[in-house]
Amino acid sequence: MKQFFLNKTAFLLLVISAMAAGVISCRSSIGETAFKDPIDLSARDTSVSPAQDFFEYANGTWLKNTEIPADKARVGSFATLADSVLVQIKGILDSCMAIKSPKAGTPAQLAGGLYASVLDTAAVENAGLTPLRADLARIAAIKERGDIIREIGLENKNGDWFWDWYHWGWDDIITGTGQLCTIYVFADNKNSNLTRLHCDQGGLGLPNKTYYFKTDSAGRHIIAVYKNYIANILSLSGESPEPKADAEAIFSLEKKLAEASSGREELYVPEKNYHLMSVAEMQSLTPNIQWRQLLNTMDIRTDTLLVGQPAFYKTLSGLLKSTPISVWKKYLSFHLINQYAPWLSAPYANAAFALRQVITGQKERAARWKAASILVNSTIGEALGELYVNRYFPPSYKKYMVNMVNNLKAAFREHIKNLDWMSDSTKTLALDKLNAMVAKIGYPEKWKDFSSVNIRKDSLIDNLKRIGQWYYHYNMDKLPKPTDRSEWLMTSATVNAYNNPTSNDINFPAAILQPPFYFPNGDDAVNYGSIGAVIGHEMTHSFDNMGSKYDKDGSLKNWWTKADQKEFDKRADMIVKQFDQYTVLDSVHLNGKMEEVENIADLGGIAIAYTAFQKTREVQKDTLINGLTPNQRFFMANAQIWRSKLRPQRLAWLVTSNGHAPAKYRANGPVSNMPEFYKAFNVKKGDKMYRADSVRVKIW
Ligand SMILES: [Zn+2]
Repeated sequence: MKQFFLNKTAFLLLVISAMAAGVISCRSSIGETAFKDPIDLSARDTSVSPAQDFFEYANGTWLKNTEIPADKARVGSFATLADSVLVQIKGILDSCMAIKSPKAGTPAQLAGGLYASVLDTAAVENAGLTPLRADLARIAAIKERGDIIREIGLENKNGDWFWDWYHWGWDDIITGTGQLCTIYVFADNKNSNLTRLHCDQGGLGLPNKTYYFKTDSAGRHIIAVYKNYIANILSLSGESPEPKADAEAIFSLEKKLAEASSGREELYVPEKNYHLMSVAEMQSLTPNIQWRQLLNTMDIRTDTLLVGQPAFYKTLSGLLKSTPISVWKKYLSFHLINQYAPWLSAPYANAAFALRQVITGQKERAARWKAASILVNSTIGEALGELYVNRYFPPSYKKYMVNMVNNLKAAFREHIKNLDWMSDSTKTLALDKLNAMVAKIGYPEKWKDFSSVNIRKDSLIDNLKRIGQWYYHYNMDKLPKPTDRSEWLMTSATVNAYNNPTSNDINFPAAILQPPFYFPNGDDAVNYGSIGAVIGHEMTHSFDNMGSKYDKDGSLKNWWTKADQKEFDKRADMIVKQFDQYTVLDSVHLNGKMEEVENIADLGGIAIAYTAFQKTREVQKDTLINGLTPNQRFFMANAQIWRSKLRPQRLAWLVTSNGHAPAKYRANGPVSNMPEFYKAFNVKKGDKMYRADSVRVKIW
């Protein structure tokens, strides 16, 4: 997820980025041969007691025997499903390409055409840097400092930064973006029916600010490789006679921008990122950014800006004056090429991969068709989505999900009513918010219409620019219209889910609604333990320490009494402390504060899913399947969806940038607070999974 989305992802809450002991009974048992168990029994390590380390018990053999593929930085439930979704996408795109003369502007022509243009590597090699030459010449011609900002406006309008909006949700996109001023139209957080022009920080080529200040050997190595990459790009493109010196200057400029940027923890606090200002006010705060000129260049008419991080812009304004114009020009050229590098000819694409390799640990590049499928999904994903849903998301799946969401909502209602720490007046408002929450399942009611985009089979970069221009107009046209709450911010063929606090909605793309998250023929235990917990996770986001600041209409407005807030914070702090104590990579402690919202969501999600599951007939019948009780199966399914293995570099990125705890702790952390789990697996005082009553947390 790129830097631009750093703000957006902090703001939209995602899922990502899964016994022998116990109950003996005389219940009837379903034979192992009768059906294929959705729970991967062979993944278990039965030499480990579930009461000591549930994650190892549920996944130990899988962890021992699974290798991370060379073209991946991680492997696990999400990554494996994402891979099979890519195969599904490929099938669709292959059949699109096979259509002889598809009607222009139809989803099949658009998706097939874009896919073909990625696969046509001969055309990509022939084109070299030609598609960007006019832009680079324009940058080279910059004479005055004011033109730097004008250039930022032009690149936005030209679509250079907009096409990758929908990259997020694909957890693998983790490099930064050099988009200096991240400008887009989105809901006003304090008045969610209105749209505003948002201005957020940006401008970094490394994943986030922490990477610029690392002093350990791995961190210093990444910095060295990044500088080398900048020099390499400048040298390949012929944009610099002294690439090494220019790379140093660009890095030092970015480091100053990084210093002025907000970190992940601050980005999670909505009030800190909300500064409604007139253009005139912003102008006096940042005298060297000509805001009127910038807005005029982008054809934007507004007198109001919603600035995320004014300190960043203040520093940027100073740097626009103090940094030599020649450095700024090299900075702009480098970032424009960098933005397209993975899709340019081999020398650029190879250089970009060498950088990615050192950041993620990934050993080999993904096959071209995989990269192409991801690109189609993350650009014109709603054209593809229409085809995807027709093939892979039957109405019966949607029906099951709608029913499950309703059951989870009912369970959540019950939880709120029974809370012993919340006053009745706050409970009423919490229930109002829950009742108003909208669940969007599978796909949008109305697909985005890309029919006006000219997609050609032989011009990849031009295609991307035209798609970017489409997004630019689509996004800017929202100003000043009322917020469109029906819009999806993730495509249907994406394995993820999200909560948008400004719309008070939860969103589950079709692609996540399949095994191992949802088994159409599976038992309820498995489905409630996996997709049920995911749904519960997203629901809880509306009530975590960040989401709970938004009211039922999605506006940032306090609806809590002081006393209730204090009680909530007390419990949230306990979760922070619990996760602070976990260590990874031998000695690195997790950052409980940075992961606070996600850990609260995991804890609430599984608790709500458990309550909803208790109402099913399966629990009432209490039938054993493959030796496991329904409740054991519920917890097993949950521990198995989190299973994953990461390369150390990827883990380091996760711990510093992502906001989600590593898999093992997502599996073990929440259940270690649940007496229901203790009961299912006979966890007793003294066991590692056991917490004394005084340190056990239940928030929702
Ligand atoms: Zn989340």
